[in-house]
Amino acid sequence: MNSKTVKFGGSSLADADQFRKVKAIIEADPARRYVVPSAPGKRYSGDTKITDMLYTCQQLAAAGADFSDVLGKIRDRYLEIAKALELSFDPTDELDRIAFRLKEGATKDFAASRGEYLNGLLLSNYLGFPFVDAADVVRFNENGTLLMSETMLAMREVLGKLENAVIPGFYGAGPSGEIITFSRGGSDITGSLVARAVRAEIYENWTDVSGVLVADPRIVPDAAVINTITYEELRELSYMGATVLHEDAIFPVRAAGIPINIRNTNEPSAPGTLIVADDSADSDVQTGYTITGIAGKKGFCAINIQKAMMNAELGFCRKVLAVLEEMGISFEHMPSGIDTMSIILAEEAIKGKEKTVLSKIRKAVSPDSCEIEHGISLLAVVGRGMRRTRGTAARIFAALAHARINVKMIDQGSSELNIIIGLLEGDFEEAVRRIYDMFVKSTIGEDAD
Ligand code: ASP
Repeated sequence: MNSKTVKFGGSSLADADQFRKVKAIIEADPARRYVVPSAPGKRYSGDTKITDMLYTCQQLAAAGADFSDVLGKIRDRYLEIAKALELSFDPTDELDRIAFRLKEGATKDFAASRGEYLNGLLLSNYLGFPFVDAADVVRFNENGTLLMSETMLAMREVLGKLENAVIPGFYGAGPSGEIITFSRGGSDITGSLVARAVRAEIYENWTDVSGVLVADPRIVPDAAVINTITYEELRELSYMGATVLHEDAIFPVRAAGIPINIRNTNEPSAPGTLIVADDSADSDVQTGYTITGIAGKKGFCAINIQKAMMNAELGFCRKVLAVLEEMGISFEHMPSGIDTMSIILAEEAIKGKEKTVLSKIRKAVSPDSCEIEHGISLLAVVGRGMRRTRGTAARIFAALAHARINVKMIDQGSSELNIIIGLLEGDFEEAVRRIYDMFVKSTIGEDAD
């Protein structure tokens, strides 16, 4: 029988009203058989997520301080939801056990995982689906690395016998049963693992936005939703700062060719964004635009190096890069001229090491000049449609030129999937808006094969 794996994020399960929406969504389609919940998230801006409250409890416990107030608030939130849904679920005994373990020195991971664990129990009670503890089916090695085949085996063994189930997200267990969590937002990964294990036809990831947006809505308030995006494009956009899905959630389903559908719990009729493996079936036509998305980040700097006859000096780049390697600094881009090269890297990566890096470079290659330029942002224009459309770069740079924005660096990868542009940080937002307008609001200069 076909099945869909559905994951609901924290804001989709923040209170009783949200739980009702989740139930309606699940009941609207009998294929939605395996359900992965996050812990209750924020109900309003300024609210605190259950996961954060649990981290606080653990910190207080580790410092020998009293954490009963915070634990009491956690209990109240679950009880409030259960009461409003007329369920008999009461987390008190579980929370007493958790308090006991925290006093005995339980880990951060154990504490944080209890948010999903309790929410899984609550949701399974509400839906009438069996509860499967993620500690029994998500396996890690002693270093906290996920064990994929063991996890697949364990999940198939348990879920194969169940018509439907609720499996809490975010955590699993190590070799001796100790609880280990993924990094923050990791319920997305659990959902992806379940989808792969049950060979789901689709992995639906329900959240509080109607899909992946073409640009950050804080910069472009009415940004359009991307209908279809490839895994590759999503990876490029996520790397450049677009946050929709945990980065590690892509791999398990991608390897199995299962599409991900980002959906909005608060607007279930919207189709959301479909994340697909391949570029076939004219999927770029469906997006309607040559570009798929725009993303970017601030907080970069450039090491600018200049030396006469640099081009003739064998091993110049290697010597410069060896300095960075030796100091454990990774870089983002390396545009070069005949007698110049620049290395773009995150400010964070070089913080506190600037002087040493510069003096080591001077020693290694005796440049005519070598200095650091701060305040750079990187903007990525991503789109599989670029490969077969002429004039994309021209349109991007025309948009920037009209806005009198100076471009400091340009980098187009061989995949022709993205164009990365270095700009002054102060120009970043305007650049995003101008490029968005050029591609989404107008079709001037479009020239497809
Ligand atoms: N509850 C965890 C967090 O806040 C995991 C998740 O929501 O995916 O990060």
